[in-house]
Amino acid sequence: MFQILVILLILLILSMVVCVLASCKKNVQNCRNVVHLIWMAIITSACYTAFILVPVGHHRLATFLDGLYFLSTDWLAVYLLLFTVAYTRVEPPSVLPRRVIGFLAGLDSVSLAVNTFTHHMFELEAAVNEKLKITYWNIQLKPLHYVHRVFVYTIVMYSLAALLYRLVKAPRMYKMRYMGLLAQLVGVAGVNFLCYIMDAQFDYSVILYASMALSVCYFTLYASPRVLLERMHSTIIRDSVIGFIAYDENGKCIDINPVARNFFPDSDDLHGAAEKYLERWEEEHEGNAGGIMGEDRKITRGNAQMHIYVTYQKFTDEKGRVLGSCFQFEDRTEVVRKFKEEQYRITHDMLTGLLNRNAFEEEAEKVLADAKEPYYMVCSNVKDFKLVNELYGADVGDRLLIAQAKMITAALDEKTVVARIFADKFCILMPKERFHEKEVYEQIEALRKLDLVSSFKLHYYIGVYEIRDVTEPVWTMYDKAIMAIDTMRGNYGQTICFYQDELLEHIMKEKEVLGEFDRAIEERQFHMFLQPQIANDNSIVGAEALVRWIHPERGMVSPGLFIPTLEKAGLIHKLDLYMWESAARKLEEWKKSGIEKYSISVNISTKDFYYLDICDTFRELAEKYDFDIKKLKLEITESALMENIQENMRTLDGLHALGYEIEIDDFGSGYSSLGMLKDIHADILKIDMIFLQETKNVERSSTILKNIIAMSKELGMPVITEGVETKEQVEFLVTVGCDMFQGFYFARPMLVEHFEEQYCDEQTA
Ligand code: C2E
Ligand code: CA
Ligand code: CA
Repeated sequence: MFQILVILLILLILSMVVCVLASCKKNVQNCRNVVHLIWMAIITSACYTAFILVPVGHHRLATFLDGLYFLSTDWLAVYLLLFTVAYTRVEPPSVLPRRVIGFLAGLDSVSLAVNTFTHHMFELEAAVNEKLKITYWNIQLKPLHYVHRVFVYTIVMYSLAALLYRLVKAPRMYKMRYMGLLAQLVGVAGVNFLCYIMDAQFDYSVILYASMALSVCYFTLYASPRVLLERMHSTIIRDSVIGFIAYDENGKCIDINPVARNFFPDSDDLHGAAEKYLERWEEEHEGNAGGIMGEDRKITRGNAQMHIYVTYQKFTDEKGRVLGSCFQFEDRTEVVRKFKEEQYRITHDMLTGLLNRNAFEEEAEKVLADAKEPYYMVCSNVKDFKLVNELYGADVGDRLLIAQAKMITAALDEKTVVARIFADKFCILMPKERFHEKEVYEQIEALRKLDLVSSFKLHYYIGVYEIRDVTEPVWTMYDKAIMAIDTMRGNYGQTICFYQDELLEHIMKEKEVLGEFDRAIEERQFHMFLQPQIANDNSIVGAEALVRWIHPERGMVSPGLFIPTLEKAGLIHKLDLYMWESAARKLEEWKKSGIEKYSISVNISTKDFYYLDICDTFRELAEKYDFDIKKLKLEITESALMENIQENMRTLDGLHALGYEIEIDDFGSGYSSLGMLKDIHADILKIDMIFLQETKNVERSSTILKNIIAMSKELGMPVITEGVETKEQVEFLVTVGCDMFQGFYFARPMLVEHFEEQYCDEQTA
């Protein structure tokens, strides 16, 4: 019996050591308290085992070891308390009780240790059990020992109370863990108390320490509430946004959550419908071994289409036997919608709904890759669209663009690709035979009629590039169509322009002009040439100042090659200022030399009106140079005057007030020639050379010329005809009453020095 007890104690100690070592590795809440508690149980059991093994005759050692055992029960109780407080979270109200308990435990420990010599708490005496034939230590308790017992029992009672409290309060599924520990503790305390009152030879409660330590370890560190887990799982499945159907090994539906129910809305027998669904799935995926399968499916609910991702999973045991299966249905309608929306946003222009720049390239490449017929790249651009936004607001500008987009898309079919590339630039890739100029003009007319920008003269430029090499980069094609547009800029007369290879050359030349312009002005490469103007009595009355660019490498460049470029780039006013000043300076010089007979006519470009205050400029010139104002004549083309008639009339009045004379240049080349004469107060009419150059309708031209001259006579305006090349022309013009002439017949434009040599010497002479 004694040996069995000893062996049992040793085994239990060993099992507790294993248990404590395993627990040390765990990193869970309350682990430290558990480990401390078990270590204390090991020490207590070891002390007790050592004590009962002390042979008779070693009285003091036995007393010491028994004292040590009692002492360790103090600390075992203390650690039990710490553990229960942490486990049940039934805390003492302040730290004071802890300190008191620690102090009392320390005091009791000292007392028990000293007892080896003083025997004031207990005394041992060797006794013999005749029946069992063993010797054992009989203990005689002294009154002070009861203090120790009361202390230990109080702590145990508190722990019991805490566990009981939790047992009552806890939800059902948690009661087990408190109940288990409570039972163990009641067992230990009960056996210990029984041993004491029955005056047993051994304290059998020690045996229970080990089992208590093990169950503490199990409940705190290992036991997870299965019921809780199961309940959590089933709640998650029930409330999940994912549809879920579970089947047993025979395909019988065993669970279907609310979301999955929605997939069988018209069915009275949900489980039956779910089973049929599985059957169909298996038919469709016959030969598929299983595991997890997933696929996207579209289903129709009412009028809406839903995108569902279906996952099918089979569960098997270790031998591969099917245990059951389940479907999961994930509603991806929203994800797909957002994805499509995002795709749309990336590839479309939000304002017009047309493709955007990036998508255009991709789509155009696709269409051209299987193009079987010739294609055009067509680009459109609104002249001065920036002005539309500034004058009428971005909202009106937007509406105009939307209207244009609608119009384009309505007229085209699937073989075309339409995009808004940027601002007012639209681009269309279309079969060549679908492009009809008439249709384009009709559309533009319809846009004008929308009357979004009432007083603004909407002008569209359409650049067309015929694609000959479909492998050419899309943006090169686009650039070529834009190049065609660029050549029309500033030109109201033209709407459609087809790209030609010469355009590229032209554009390169324009770039060259613009690149060199500033330096050319600085280095005075521009020169004033003069072309004499002759009165009908053969006398020279003056000259027109015509610019020539004497380029250091290219020699003389005629204005036709750079004036339109400078006008387009908004630079012409710089050149004109230079020319006007040259003319004024020359007139001053002539005046000083006594040559006061000749006038000089200078050209004023349409664009000068945008960039300069013409009146101010000419006032300053008159102030700066000393010349007879009447001798500096100003040539303004009729189209320049017509552009902004009200404003220009004011400018003309201002110039007249300063004393300048105005010539209407290129008269007859525009559209509104005759009508304008009654409104515009000009001094001289300069008839365009077109009437003289006309070879087909000589009769008609002569009649018109005759009438223009007659009419201007009536209005009191002298007439000068330019482009006079032959004697016959002169004779004819004289007969119809023309006052002055300018043309190669008399002289070509010449260097000022040549003019002076030819005409001034003779005058001063
Ligand atoms: P424009 O003002 O009509 O000038 C008359 C043009 O006709 C000049 O051409 C002149 O050389 C040319 N011409 C004169 N007589 C005859 C003739 O009998 N037969 C033919 N076929 N042509 C004749 P140019 O000098 O080449 O100037 C062309 C245009 O360039 C000018 O037309 C004018 O619009 C512009 N231009 C010339 N110089 C200036 C300038 O300093 N400023 C501005 N803004 N424009 C200028
Ligand atoms: Ca002129
Ligand atoms: Ca002219």
